[in-house]
Amino acid sequence: MIRLRPRLLCASLLLVFGTAEADDPPQSGMVVAAHPLATQAGVDILDAGGTAIDAAIAIQAVLTLVEPQSSGIGGGAFMLHYDGATTDMQAYDGRETAPAAIEADHFLTEAGAPMDFLDAVPGGQAVGVPGTLRMLELAHEEHGERPWKTLFQPAIRLAEGGFEVTPRLAEMLRIDLPLEAFEPMAGYFFPDAEPISAGMTLTNPALADTLTEVANQGADAFYEGPIANSIVTRVQAHGGKLTREDMADYRAVERTPICRFIAGHSICGMPLPSSGGMTVLQILRLLEIANADTEETSELTWTHRLLEASRLGFADRNEYLGDTDFVDVPVDTLLSEDYLTGRAGLISPTQSMGKATPGLNDPDTAMSDAKLINHSTSHFSVLDAAGNAVSMTSSIEMPFGSRLMVGGFMLNNQLTDFRFDPEAADGRPHPNRVQPGKRPLSSMSPVIALDSDDQPRLIIGSPGGTRIIGYVAQRVADVLMRGKGVEAAIEAGNRVNRNSRTQVEADTDAQALAPGLEGLGHEVEIESMTSGLHGIERLPDGVIRGAADPRREGSVGRSTSPSLIDSVNH
Ligand code: GLU
Repeated sequence: MIRLRPRLLCASLLLVFGTAEADDPPQSGMVVAAHPLATQAGVDILDAGGTAIDAAIAIQAVLTLVEPQSSGIGGGAFMLHYDGATTDMQAYDGRETAPAAIEADHFLTEAGAPMDFLDAVPGGQAVGVPGTLRMLELAHEEHGERPWKTLFQPAIRLAEGGFEVTPRLAEMLRIDLPLEAFEPMAGYFFPDAEPISAGMTLTNPALADTLTEVANQGADAFYEGPIANSIVTRVQAHGGKLTREDMADYRAVERTPICRFIAGHSICGMPLPSSGGMTVLQILRLLEIANADTEETSELTWTHRLLEASRLGFADRNEYLGDTDFVDVPVDTLLSEDYLTGRAGLISPTQSMGKATPGLNDPDTAMSDAKLINHSTSHFSVLDAAGNAVSMTSSIEMPFGSRLMVGGFMLNNQLTDFRFDPEAADGRPHPNRVQPGKRPLSSMSPVIALDSDDQPRLIIGSPGGTRIIGYVAQRVADVLMRGKGVEAAIEAGNRVNRNSRTQVEADTDAQALAPGLEGLGHEVEIESMTSGLHGIERLPDGVIRGAADPRREGSVGRSTSPSLIDSVNH
C-alpha cells in the first residue's frame, strides 16, 4: 500500500468520489501523474511557488525511480507548455536521436529481411541518445522559477530512503522479455534471483548519485561527464553504435506546436517527429465534418464515425510521416480543410470503408502498419496557479527499455520506432527509415486545448504505443464535442482503429458496441487495453478537475493548502 500524505489522499478521494468540484477554488494548481509519489513531488514543488515546468522536472525525476518500466532520464519525451502570462504555447522535443554511425540496414538481418521486433529491443542496438534531461533543461531555462538543483531533491530522497514497489512494477517484471540476463538490472530487480514483489521497499543509491550529479552540475553532467561515458561503454559493449560525440551533440528542440480550430477550441499537439499531433487533429476534424450533417448521435454511430476517421488518419500516418528535419512531409496539405473535407466524404454512416488508403496517392503496397502495443510510457499533466500548463508524455519505449541499466536508470530502446525496412516493397524510401541523427516517428500525443479566451480547457495525453492516438482522440472528442467530464471520458471503454481491425475494450461499455459495429462492417476484437490517460480540465468558471486512468496506478493532486482541500471534501 502506498502511503499518501493527507492532502494527496483527499485529492485522490476527490477523484474517486467525483465530489463537489463546483466548490473548488478557481486558481489552484493540479498535477495528474502515473504514481502517487510523482504526483506528490509535483504538488510539493507547486506549493513551494514552482511553475508547471518546475513541477514537471520533479515529477519526471521521481517517475525515473518509481516507474522504471515506463520512462526516465534514459529515454525521451515530448512536452507542450502553455504560458499563462503570454497565452503562447511551446512544443519541446526531447526525442532520442540515432547515433551518427548508424546505417540504413541497421535493423535488417544478414539475409536483408527486417529483424524480429523483439530481437531488436534488448541490448545496445536500439538505444538512441536520451533526450529527456536536455529538454527539461531547455524548458527550465525559459519557464522555470525554482532552482534546478532543488527539483531533484524529492527523487534523491526517495532513492536513498526507499519506495514501495507497486503491483504494476512487479507485474511488468513477470510479463516482459527475460530480464535476468542483463546486469546490473538483474541484481536490482531480481535480488537473490527472485523478482521484487509488490509492497517491498526498494532503494536505488546509484540513481541517487546520478540525480545528485545532475542536480549540482546541470544536464551537462549527464551528456558530457562520467555518466555519459558509462552510457556509451555499456551500449557499445552490447552491440550499439552510440558514441561520446553523439551524447555531447544532442540538442533538445523547441518547435512550433501544431494547432487547429476544432469544436470551438484551439487544439494543439506536438509536431513531427511525433505523429501524435497531426493524426489526432486529423481524426478530430474528420469526425467533426462527418458529424456536421447529421442529427443521429447514438453511441454506435458516434463510435463508428470516430473509428472510420481513425482509419483515415492512420492510413496517412503510416504512409507519409517521419522526422521533418530529414524528410519532406506535406503537413499543411494533410491538415488542410479541402483535403479533410474530401476525406471525410469517405465516411459512410451505414458501412465501414474497411482498410483506408492514404489520401495523396494510391500505392500498391502500403508503407507500414502500426506496430505492436506495449505497456510502458507515462503521461502527466500539470496546471499551476499562474495558469501555466504542461502536457508531457515520456518514454523508454518497451517496458524497461533496452534492459541496459546505467547509474540506476534504464536506457531506452526507442530506435525500434524506426521502420526496420528502409523501403516499401515497390522501392519507395520510407519517411521513417533509419538515418544518422534522425528521430524515430512517435505516437506520443500530449494535447492542450484552449477555449475562446485562450485559456487551457483540457490538458491530456496517454501511453499505449500507436494506440495512444486513438485513446487521446476519443477523450478530446468526448470532452470538447460531447461535453463529457474528463473523469467519465477517461473511464469509458477504449475504442481504437489503426486502419485494421476495430478494437474495443473488454468488460467496458465499449464491448457492448461490438455487435453493432460488426453490423456496420467492422471486424471487431475485444481486448484489454491499458491506457494511462492523465488529464486536467478547466471549466469556463475556472473550476479545475483532474482524472487519473483507473487502468494504471496514477493519482490526482492539488496544490492548495490542506485546510482548503479539507473544506472541499468534508
Ligand atoms: N515509443 C512509443 C512512441 O514514441 C511509445 C511507447 C508506448 O507508448 O508504449 O510512440
